Amino acid sequence: MSKISWIEKLAGLVGLVPRERKWPDPDPYGEGLLSYPPFEKWLEVEELDSKRKPRRLAMVPTTCFNCEAACGLLAAVDKDSREILRLEGNPLHPGSRGKNCAKGPATLNQVQDPERILQPMRRVGPRGEGKFEPVSWETALNQIANSIQDCFKEDRHDEVMYHVGRPGHEGSVERVLQAWGIDGHNSHTTVCSASARAGYQFTWGYDRPAPDHANAQLILLLSAHLESGHYFNPHAQRIIEAKHSGARIVVLDPRLSNTASRADLWLPTKPGTEGAVILAALKILIEEDRIDRKFISEWVDWRGYLKELHPEDVPTVDLFLQRFSEHLSEWTPAEAESYAGLESGSIEKLAAEIARAGSRIAAHCWRSAASGNLGGWQIARSLAILNAFTGSLGVEGGTSPAGWNKFKPDFFSMPDPGKRWNELIWPRQFPTSFYEMSHLLPHLVEDGIGKIGVYFTRVFNPVWTYPDGMSWMRMLEDEEKVGLHVALTPTWNETAYYADLVLPMGHSTERHDVQSLETHSARWLSFRQPIFRALARLEGKPSDDTRGFNPGEVWEEDEFWIELSWRIDPDGSLGIRKHFESPYRPGEKVTVEEQYQHMFENSVPGLPEKAAENQMTPMEYMTRVGAHELPGEAYELHRQEVDLTENQIPEIDPQTGLASVDGKVIGVAVDGAIRKGFPTPSRRIEIYSGLLEEWGFSEEALPGVSRSHVGPENLDPENGIYVLVPTFRLPTMIHSRSANSKHLMEISHANPVWIHPEDAERHDILDGALVRVETEIGHFVNRARITDGIRSGVIACSHHMGRWRKEDGPGSRWSSATVNFEELSDGSTRMRRLQGSEPFKSEDPDSERTWWDESGVHQNLAFPVQTDPVSGMHCWHQKVRLVKAADEDQYGDVVVHPEKARAAHQNWLKLARPAGPDRNGGLRRPRELPRPLGRDPEAYHFKD
Ligand code: SF4
Repeated sequence: MSKISWIEKLAGLVGLVPRERKWPDPDPYGEGLLSYPPFEKWLEVEELDSKRKPRRLAMVPTTCFNCEAACGLLAAVDKDSREILRLEGNPLHPGSRGKNCAKGPATLNQVQDPERILQPMRRVGPRGEGKFEPVSWETALNQIANSIQDCFKEDRHDEVMYHVGRPGHEGSVERVLQAWGIDGHNSHTTVCSASARAGYQFTWGYDRPAPDHANAQLILLLSAHLESGHYFNPHAQRIIEAKHSGARIVVLDPRLSNTASRADLWLPTKPGTEGAVILAALKILIEEDRIDRKFISEWVDWRGYLKELHPEDVPTVDLFLQRFSEHLSEWTPAEAESYAGLESGSIEKLAAEIARAGSRIAAHCWRSAASGNLGGWQIARSLAILNAFTGSLGVEGGTSPAGWNKFKPDFFSMPDPGKRWNELIWPRQFPTSFYEMSHLLPHLVEDGIGKIGVYFTRVFNPVWTYPDGMSWMRMLEDEEKVGLHVALTPTWNETAYYADLVLPMGHSTERHDVQSLETHSARWLSFRQPIFRALARLEGKPSDDTRGFNPGEVWEEDEFWIELSWRIDPDGSLGIRKHFESPYRPGEKVTVEEQYQHMFENSVPGLPEKAAENQMTPMEYMTRVGAHELPGEAYELHRQEVDLTENQIPEIDPQTGLASVDGKVIGVAVDGAIRKGFPTPSRRIEIYSGLLEEWGFSEEALPGVSRSHVGPENLDPENGIYVLVPTFRLPTMIHSRSANSKHLMEISHANPVWIHPEDAERHDILDGALVRVETEIGHFVNRARITDGIRSGVIACSHHMGRWRKEDGPGSRWSSATVNFEELSDGSTRMRRLQGSEPFKSEDPDSERTWWDESGVHQNLAFPVQTDPVSGMHCWHQKVRLVKAADEDQYGDVVVHPEKARAAHQNWLKLARPAGPDRNGGLRRPRELPRPLGRDPEAYHFKD
């Protein structure tokens, strides 16, 4: 509820502002939102401007598409010129509450970018050369449908693959792929969050945390990436609010990030040592009895721990704590501080901060610490356990499972999970991966595991964002390995160069979909919509086919998939078409309005009632308001009692408390009731993981400190051997898509290598000088930035820069350098920068005013794939040699040796513990581990 100040009240009384504002229930989120026009006028705003005639505007909501946070946007549309004047925050969005980061409003740059793709393009000439010609949607759709039909007719279903970069479509594409009967969903999770997910899943049974920052007393962050670059805005605004209310911030990060700069305690840990610090602090808390014994007694599976590890003991909580503390005995504060490179007393201070906050600890570990290190998932696990031991799990001001704060609606028709298992996506080497082994695709194809007939890349740019991009280029160039490559993308990118069809899909103001995210302790659903089509809908005008409302021939995926599915199965004989027929007009093609009308009317709790209170239909409510907060409890959902029918008499295991009906576990007996608990086998928090033991990782069954490939013991700064931290970016940029925003490019357009002054002096490196960073498979050349913002012994380079395009090829000239590729005499390939960003002519006069010419260095190209055997995560941190640049080196050079890239993959593969027909009941993967595309239980069995 916004508060009205006395000045505003006075202004209302004298008529300077309207006295009363009408908003749909609930009122706008947050405060200070009085400059918005009142909601009832959003479709008819008169904007006064002293320099021009009054303008008639409409305010139409949508959802930002520039990161996963899904903040609300409100487009101010000139109703006469039909142009978007600006994009600002939507005050009715529960996650973002009227606020955005710089990337939200910059969507307008992306929409108006003179270099965006406005029509379907078809390759001419060799793949990868970057030559395209316009083609009609009709031709493109038929070509794709024919290729897919060929695959299906020849029982090559596993050759159809969809690979997603930017997700956020809440099950829509999974539905499409299930309707097609394929196991063809590939995501980007193994370069993103697999390791963090694994740590939480093995412990809580949920694969991501949702910190309740706003109500916390302690905000404990392992690395800052999340708060400074990804879920930036919804988290950052709540962290700042909590800090203003007295919360303290502790950050473990070798880099002085934006978040660390606001911390009360910054612990610049050496990479890979964070788990030792957390476990050492936990040991202090156990020994000082500053833990939540009640929570541990009820909700930690201490019985299972003692039964497996100390069967001779009479099980009690005290004994469990004693035994677990003994297990942690290696990590005394002094040992952990020495290992992590922290000052003496740091861990005592951390333990004191934790103890002071009690159960109000909002903690998060997502990127750097987890995703950078071999065994990084153990770091996330240590944090998940800390939440449990402090009773800060699932309570106000604590950290909840993300599944409690995220909502997935149902579609009007949901096909059955299929029985196929695609081994190119889910190879047997990584049975516990989170999830698809996405970053290994070129190597798995090279290994002969499979090939691809039709490959969709959706807002996905692995050539640039993934490690070992040259392996992707080689795979995509080879038409034997990849048949038809279709790039669905709003902007040109390095991967689209290697496509056969480049199909323009809309930005956040040009597409329908829904999204929900665990931004805080609530559940909400946000509606992304094509602004002009939504406006037509509200004005009662015809509103079919999004292409009629978007620039050029830009389309949206919802309509594309519906149309393509009908073409694959025109007569319905494949059983596909029925899932794309209208629920209201049997036998006819469903429209996107019908799809969302059905969803909003039937599967979103509280929405029909909320809409009715405001005299709207659910569809109208979502079109006008843009988001809906679901009713219901946000905390302690594990304590909810299980609903039993009269006839259900549960059996309760006297040892474990597990309650079963007809042999199926339905909950756990705790505190005099049968409660839902957590979705682990024991329904409690698991410190000992039987699953890891069973699947071949017995040495990882207990929490501990995995020795990272870049741990301190593997480095030698005196001789130039460092760890390179590449897992951060500036908060104004996001991977590929922000590159076509002129304002964001103006803010930041370089990614120098951060080097501590002591290290720079050691190697005689001056600020701004060129350095060569040598990896296992090659090297890159970049400028040095000498700064205290990184701890000594560690170097860092942001991954937000280094975009490139080939000479005369398409691409964003705001952001990219032209490059060429040259084979060198030792068999390596060198990418060399020819020309940086420079002014160019276009319909946007700003394009002649670009003043920057650096566009950064593409460091990821020089990284080998390094696959964690448990989580499947690509371990991003690199062990490198830092040297001054050689005479022949130029800024932006990247050199990669393909044989070394293959050898690196094969070496890491030796760590894997494959599944097999003769182990684990012949299962390919534990059934209890989640999988984005659901499968029939039968599919989990090896057939050979
Ligand atoms: S944090 Fe920024 S980029 Fe991400 S959704 Fe919100 S406004 Fe968009």
